[in-house]
Amino acid sequence: MTSSASGNDFALAIHGGAGTILRSKMTPEREAAYHAGLRRALDAGRIVLADGGSALNAVTAAVMALEDEPLFNAGRGAVYTSAGKQEMDAAVMDGRDRSAGAVAGICGPRNPILAARAVMEHSGHVLLIGESAMEFCRRQGLAFEEASYFFTEQRWQALQETLAMRQSGADDQDESRKHGTVGAVARDRHGNLAAATSTGGMTAKSPGRVGDSPVFGAGTWADNETCAISATGHGEIFIRYAAAHEIASRMRYTGQTLDQASHGVVIDMLAPAGGSGGIIAVDRAGNVSLPFNCSGMYRGVVRGDGRLLTGIYDEPLIEFQMA
Ligand code: ASP
Repeated sequence: MTSSASGNDFALAIHGGAGTILRSKMTPEREAAYHAGLRRALDAGRIVLADGGSALNAVTAAVMALEDEPLFNAGRGAVYTSAGKQEMDAAVMDGRDRSAGAVAGICGPRNPILAARAVMEHSGHVLLIGESAMEFCRRQGLAFEEASYFFTEQRWQALQETLAMRQSGADDQDESRKHGTVGAVARDRHGNLAAATSTGGMTAKSPGRVGDSPVFGAGTWADNETCAISATGHGEIFIRYAAAHEIASRMRYTGQTLDQASHGVVIDMLAPAGGSGGIIAVDRAGNVSLPFNCSGMYRGVVRGDGRLLTGIYDEPLIEFQMA
């Protein structure tokens, strides 16, 4: 799906993960809750952009809202490692000058995306991991939470089911149990781009495993010259194919449009390689592209007209109508 902003209009797109999202497994209440969570995040970013704020602040605000929502696999509601712990990854990138910051393997900061932002703005580095990253966050005065804040029964049960399946030798086919991620990309009224991604990674992942989200050029990318991208899906494949950077490169070197490049990578390159998932992307003209190669991706778009458009399945986005 592509649509474009004009002049000094802004564009914000978000995702809340992709995978095998089946209508048959969804209740109307749960579906409504997902749409509501996406709308809250869109609105958080929209307020920043409508006020003339930066794409960087907008993607940070949108991702914070998604991290706070336990339905999504990031921050509160993150999935568990095989050792029963949560290890979160997050990244943010500013398309103006390719400033970038990321954290990996952390659990404690209430909003991992703020930890990534602090790395970008105050560490002199691009990526900090584990205990040392958390120590840095403490020194930065970021808000921390106990393990109970991040806990959700659903994620805990998903881990137990995945571990039981592993023990019995069965393959876990249910991708909704396996992963998820949240992300945002924006083009602000000044024509600048930014991207942010935050995740708990994959259920029952090995302790210490880091996915594509905090790897620049794989799951997160922003460069005013081309596009801003946030990915969700099988992280190992997205890293090996440098998914986000591949899209930007196709635009830069072959002159492909945002839509051509992102569809080419997600549908024709990642899918055959076993990289199930999708991406959200925006370019400097405000074109938005949201391709995915699985049955669904929680996603949404808002522009200067303020219409909050959200979707889950492979069908056009819908606008929430106030009753
Ligand atoms: N890409 C994430 C990871 O591999 C998971 C996901 O988006 O579903 O950590």
